[in-house]
Amino acid sequence: MQFPDSVAHLIQYDHELAPHLWLGIGGPARYFAEPTTRQELIELVIAANRLGIQVRVLGGGSNLLARESGVDCLVVSLAAAALGELSIDGDRLRAGGGAKLSHAVTHAVGAGLAGLEHMLGIPGTIGGALVSNAGARGRDIGSVTEEIEVLGRDGQVRTIGADEAQFSHRRSNLGDTVILSATFGLEATDLETLTKRMQKLWIIRHASPAQGGGRIAVPFVDPDGATAHRLIADIGLAGVREGGVSLNAEKPGILVASEGATSDDCLKLIDRVREQVLLQTGIDLQTNLRIW
Ligand SMILES: Cc1cc2nc3c(=O)[nH]c(=O)nc-3n(C[C@H](O)[C@H](O)[C@H](O)COP(=O)(O)OP(=O)(O)OC[C@H]3O[C@@H](n4cnc5c(N)ncnc54)[C@H](O)[C@@H]3O)c2cc1C
Repeated sequence: MQFPDSVAHLIQYDHELAPHLWLGIGGPARYFAEPTTRQELIELVIAANRLGIQVRVLGGGSNLLARESGVDCLVVSLAAAALGELSIDGDRLRAGGGAKLSHAVTHAVGAGLAGLEHMLGIPGTIGGALVSNAGARGRDIGSVTEEIEVLGRDGQVRTIGADEAQFSHRRSNLGDTVILSATFGLEATDLETLTKRMQKLWIIRHASPAQGGGRIAVPFVDPDGATAHRLIADIGLAGVREGGVSLNAEKPGILVASEGATSDDCLKLIDRVREQVLLQTGIDLQTNLRIW
């Protein structure tokens, strides 16, 4: 496939995705690019569209599983600094789609703005968080989102409101777009109060085994009124293993990939757990992890 000269130098072929993903496994992307400017990103999307190649966006890779067979599309990484800029205007924070969520949280808190601190400790980027309406302790990113700037396949940039993004529990309808940036409506708050709140949230967050690092993922969405880890533990599947992949014995909502793990192991384990939970509790666990 011949990309036009304007972007051809950006394309890498059969690029290994595993090093970009928290799980550290999976096949390569047929085409991969890491644009350094917004204009390059737009040109890449237009070129792929003309060539009939599907575009997928890679954020922090903390919620992604790539199949062993590889990903037959153009994977665009938003890791460049220009795609993750942060700025504050009054009580609003504007963040590039590639901005690290942790940077956005500390930037807002440092400016005495409350509303994003519940996201503290969630890995990944602003774009990834918006797609899955990431959140913790009953607060999600959609609840403070005012506007989102999205890039369509035709290269057109549009600004949409939070209502159009249709945020719901760990869901939005933003999956088919490229999120360029978002604006969050925050609340001016006394810095001391905010710092204390952050410290408390940090302690709670770091008590979780999910912070232990390593090759891990949070595969399931907590269903209404329950947690995935409680449901899984109650039916005796804590620590269950499939090949090189297992559920954490203490917090079985967390999936751990060991040496030799494959994406197929992950998919088998996820299917097995969903099937057993459905059979024994009647609850159809939804997956949070995006599968490419
Ligand atoms: C240890 C650990 C703890 C976690 N804790 C939580 C938690 O408490 N709460 C929670 O909600 N989640 C949690 N997660 C899940 C995950 O961190 C979040 O879903 C996070 O928001 C994903 O962001 P990312 O940038 O890593 O997305 P990626 O994994 O890179 O991508 C995920 C999806 O978002 C899309 N995407 C990414 N960026 C863009 C963009 N700019 N435009 C369009 N699409 C884009 C990708 O195409 C993909 O479909 C946890 C994960 C781990 C590994």
